[in-house]
Amino acid sequence: MADSLIRGIISRGVGGLYAVRPVFDDRYDGETELLARARGSFRIQNISPLVGDVVTLSPAGEMNEALEVPEDTGAPDSTGRKRRGKKGDVRVDWVISEISGRKNSMIRPPLANLDYLFAVIPTASPEPDLLTVDKLTVIAEDCGIETVIVVNKADLDMDGARKIADVYSLAGYRVFLVSAGSGYGMDELAGFLREITEKQQEKGYVSGAFAGASGAGKSTLMTYLFPELELATGSVSRKTERGRHTTRHVELYRTETGNGSFWLADTPGFSLLDFTRFNFIPTDELPGSFREFADLIGQCRYRKCTHTKEEGCAILEKLSQGGIAGSRHASYVKILEEQRSVPEWKRKQM
Ligand code: GDP
Ligand code: ZN
Repeated sequence: MADSLIRGIISRGVGGLYAVRPVFDDRYDGETELLARARGSFRIQNISPLVGDVVTLSPAGEMNEALEVPEDTGAPDSTGRKRRGKKGDVRVDWVISEISGRKNSMIRPPLANLDYLFAVIPTASPEPDLLTVDKLTVIAEDCGIETVIVVNKADLDMDGARKIADVYSLAGYRVFLVSAGSGYGMDELAGFLREITEKQQEKGYVSGAFAGASGAGKSTLMTYLFPELELATGSVSRKTERGRHTTRHVELYRTETGNGSFWLADTPGFSLLDFTRFNFIPTDELPGSFREFADLIGQCRYRKCTHTKEEGCAILEKLSQGGIAGSRHASYVKILEEQRSVPEWKRKQM
């Protein structure tokens, strides 16, 4: 690689420009942020850089012909409108000349290369909505994102919390039973963050996001785990965002876990809905996206088994033997019904 090139990750979009953290380059420290534009040819190819993208930066001077502010950065401004810019609008030193292959990408929130999704389920107040959680696990499975279940507010109903935890342990997920309010179980969760950060250091960076219903305790959890951050979900921007058409841009924050950097994706008003409404899953991929069904696919008596009521269904048999939680199979049936009520082409546009 030529000395003048830099590799880094996009940590946020700023009105048609991108802040890039040069995490793969020891000429820079962890706090450095370089401002860059996207190369004009990305726009012609209909590619938008996303937060989380691993990119190569070239000095802007070498690429003057490509200087152009993209119309659609996937990062609307505070009014919710897409930014427009004229050629030569702002002077920046760097141009994003290459975007590395993505492990995954999401439309809402617009984010690439997410490694972990922490699905926060409240034990009570608000009542847990397992169907929505299951939709989230399905999307994550489909995108190659590892779901970690965090059952929060265990202090309100320990028995209830254990029941929810058991459902997801049985499905094969890593589960943490915590109370972010009292600190119960939080050492284990913090230890897990250290563990995954350590494990993925050679890759360069590891990222995660906390998702869950409003009131589940996401802000409380993140503030407990990353006290040094002033998160967008925290008090300040949350107050100003509430009641308005909330912008759904994402930002990656660098946090220290003691073993390296863990990049936390945060967005004002992060909720399960962002993931569940806007990410399309084809019907034939649905059963395999339930982790505890996956190794049984192809073992049913009928090739076109829908795993809902057929004779000789391997999944229904595992269900009847207690190997699959009733609520998980019920969610599967519900999602399948929802999918059937809307044609595939229409769902792609939702
Ligand atoms: P968010 O909307 O998911 O970010 O949820 P918040 O973090 O704002 O929490 C919603 C409410 O639940 C707040 O009043 C918190 O104080 C409360 N809360 C968060 N964690 C716990 C917990 O572990 N136990 C109890 N009892 N309350 C909690
Ligand atoms: Zn079946």
